[in-house]
Amino acid sequence: MAGSHSAQHAPVGVLALQGDFREHIAVLSALGADAIPVRRPEELERVAGLVIPGGESTVMDKLSRLFGLAEPLKAAVASGLPVYGTCAGLIMLADRVRDAIDGQQTLGGLDVTVRRNAFGSQLDSFETDLDIPELGDPPMHAVFIRAPVVEDIGESVTALATLDDGRIVAVEQGNLLGTSFHPEVTRDYRFHEYFLEKIRSR
Ligand code: GLN
Repeated sequence: MAGSHSAQHAPVGVLALQGDFREHIAVLSALGADAIPVRRPEELERVAGLVIPGGESTVMDKLSRLFGLAEPLKAAVASGLPVYGTCAGLIMLADRVRDAIDGQQTLGGLDVTVRRNAFGSQLDSFETDLDIPELGDPPMHAVFIRAPVVEDIGESVTALATLDDGRIVAVEQGNLLGTSFHPEVTRDYRFHEYFLEKIRSR
């Protein structure tokens, strides 16, 4: 089968150890991608890009090491695989984590410092509209759930979105994309589209 369609398509993976991976698979599928859950190194090898979902970074960390996925994931990030982390997924991609639990590790790759549960217990979850120049108009309605913020970024990192107080909640660095919030729980899929475009243009 010749033609532009068959020529593309390795599937897009969603790390499915824990968290809201089903929602991401649904969004990516709605956007026309062939989305598959990734739980094993063999599955990771097949994908053209990977989403790391929200959930609990401490658990995701433990499971990825237990299932022998942590090292292959680090290698994939280093090799330039496009990876998009939301919330806990952003924490997994961060080189440095504040308020981590004892022994918590990340995959790293993204030259940022994130603070876990940055909004404290008073304000576990909230929603707000974010101006994201990269995505154009209108502003994006963003849902934060026990979310991290990005407190420091390296030179090669671009802040894509900030809260009114200036705190960074979306970043990009080469093949890596991260958001503190959860576009998969709204109907605004521009971040997923942006990510798919990143995969295509690679
Ligand atoms: N607080 C969680 C963590 O530290 C992240 C929450 C989320 O992914 N919605 O991993």
